[in-house]
Amino acid sequence: VFEPNFVPMRMPHREREMNAIADNFGKMFIGSSPKNEIIYGKSGTGKTAVIKFIGRELKEISKGKRNVEFIYLNCQVKDNAYSIIESIGNSIGGDQIPFTGWSMDRVYNTTKNNIDKWNGNVIVVLDEVDRFVIKNGDDLLYQLMLMNSELQNSSITVVGITNDLRFSEFLDSRVKSRLNEEKIVFSPYSVEDIYDILTDRLKLSNANNFVNEGALRLISTIASQENGDARKAIELLKGSIQIAISNKENSVEERHVFVAKSKIEYDAVAETLRTMPLQTKVLLLSIALLKESGAIQATTGDVFEAYKNLTGSAGLPTLTLRRITD
Ligand code: ADP
Ligand code: MG
Repeated sequence: VFEPNFVPMRMPHREREMNAIADNFGKMFIGSSPKNEIIYGKSGTGKTAVIKFIGRELKEISKGKRNVEFIYLNCQVKDNAYSIIESIGNSIGGDQIPFTGWSMDRVYNTTKNNIDKWNGNVIVVLDEVDRFVIKNGDDLLYQLMLMNSELQNSSITVVGITNDLRFSEFLDSRVKSRLNEEKIVFSPYSVEDIYDILTDRLKLSNANNFVNEGALRLISTIASQENGDARKAIELLKGSIQIAISNKENSVEERHVFVAKSKIEYDAVAETLRTMPLQTKVLLLSIALLKESGAIQATTGDVFEAYKNLTGSAGLPTLTLRRITD
């Protein structure tokens, strides 16, 4: 239950947002189609968990009543228009679309025909949609809007999720007005909100009595200072429990939280360093060496000299002063 993609059965402090989304989707049960919508909110405010939760409920409720297909796609995984439209077309049934090789027109038309023959409502969730649009532009969104207007017996609703509050500014006006029909903002959690989320999550685990009150309060405070991010809070809780367990202690206390926090921060820095390009690593090493040799302040020129010595002795190509300055 502490894993990042776990979807809980209850989501405290998101009732208002859930009701707004559910009201919109509920329109399909009274004969009209739901509006397209954009969900905004910073990282860790529960956007992904809420939409997955609602998708799960929707599948339950619509059983035997209506053809409803809820399709969740993360745009970092499905990062091109072909694979997104193909996924939609194939999840309905009907003619199968190969995962590569067809023209976009053929994929589009087959998907459209599959949906129309099936006679129902499709909800397509595009999570982290801003990343898709930055990379590929908003043509895909336009095509999905167009598809909806061409459908005779079915409807397709697009839900975009983004961390970027300025997302709709990047959209072409023909897409913007259609996608922005409904807009829902997830605000950051307060200390108390996070505290409730953590106690709720703990109840689902078998570590309920293992974590003391002070530790929980501390985690909630730290997470609320970091943008009210529930993901960080849960990660910190998990880390604190792991540390207490590996120290063979009987309860999780504040001191475990501090250790877990610095371990998480250390791991994040270590990971960043590990994945840097080689030249960046060498540059960083030269700065570290300068500092180690007692330099209190180093100019770009000093850094470049140190860098040149390193690349020279390691037999690596030396980038220009200009590149290093950049
Ligand atoms: P976002 O998509 O906005 O970045 P997530 O939906 O991934 O955030 O939430 C991050 C983590 O916090 C997930 O593990 C999620 O289950 C949990 N979470 C967020 N909000 C709540 C809530 N209101 N109740 C319970 N768990 C929550
Ligand atoms: Mg998310």
